[in-house]
Amino acid sequence: MAEECTHDCSTCGANCSSRQEPQDMTEPLNPYSSVKKVIGIVSGKGGVGKSTVTSLMAVMFSRMGYHTAILDADITGPSIPKAFGIHEKAMGSEHGILPITTHSGIDMMSINLLLENEADPVIWRGPILAGAVKQFWTDVIWKDVDYMFVDMPPGTGDVPLTVFQSLPLDGIVVVTSPQDLVSMIVGKAVRMAQMMDVPILGIIENMSCYVCPDCGKKHYPFGESKLENVAKEYSLTILGRLPIDAACSLACDTGKIESVINPEAQEAAERLEALLSEKQ
Ligand code: ADP
Repeated sequence: MAEECTHDCSTCGANCSSRQEPQDMTEPLNPYSSVKKVIGIVSGKGGVGKSTVTSLMAVMFSRMGYHTAILDADITGPSIPKAFGIHEKAMGSEHGILPITTHSGIDMMSINLLLENEADPVIWRGPILAGAVKQFWTDVIWKDVDYMFVDMPPGTGDVPLTVFQSLPLDGIVVVTSPQDLVSMIVGKAVRMAQMMDVPILGIIENMSCYVCPDCGKKHYPFGESKLENVAKEYSLTILGRLPIDAACSLACDTGKIESVINPEAQEAAERLEALLSEKQ
């Protein structure tokens, strides 16, 4: 042991007998799977539009010509299949569970595709929830996926921790609402990613304003945005600001998210794609 041992090997270069290298806890991918990039979509709390942004990013990347997938890790609040109008059940094969493919060719896995009755609540303890997320990675056959978007459970609890540790995330995108920006909630999500050593690709402010359909004027029901200040404070790249969009909300509710035209989401996706391409 080094003379002045701090018991924190990550900050010490001494090559002593009690040195402990950080453990790699990532789970193996199913041998029949191939996933090039994994992006986690996170939020500090629920209801800010994380699942909507996950779905929109997958749709926009799919429109750019990539084979895209969504792993719905929000086990207690799964809303992805509904947004895509998917109500069928996932089937298994001898090699693993087969994802459901949406109308436009996006592969997805969600607990709602496995429950007998999709309206049943999932009342499981943390380790079981975390185990289900791991299985979505290890047991599902993700064939030739260019970009996988993981709809993370909100907050900084057991299941987000499992995703951070078990999936080889290439980075995360933080989704926030204007109200979140004035609290410490975004900071907590950002700090968690930093502590887990996962790159933060950028931040998207959802429901940032309301555009009057008659005169086109922008209104800020939650007050002027604090996005610039928060992005500066945490050194985050602003990927985009998505306005309150009644058509998008209706499309989510009626399973038609793949038909949404949303220039702001498209721009955010293009920025994200450019960032990810740079990293290759
Ligand atoms: P989360 O995943 O953060 O809990 P959701 O994506 O499920 O949040 O969104 C919560 C609700 O807000 C949904 O009904 C969704 O349709 C709606 N919503 C999300 N983003 C927008 C938006 N930009 N404009 C209008 N409605 C939105």
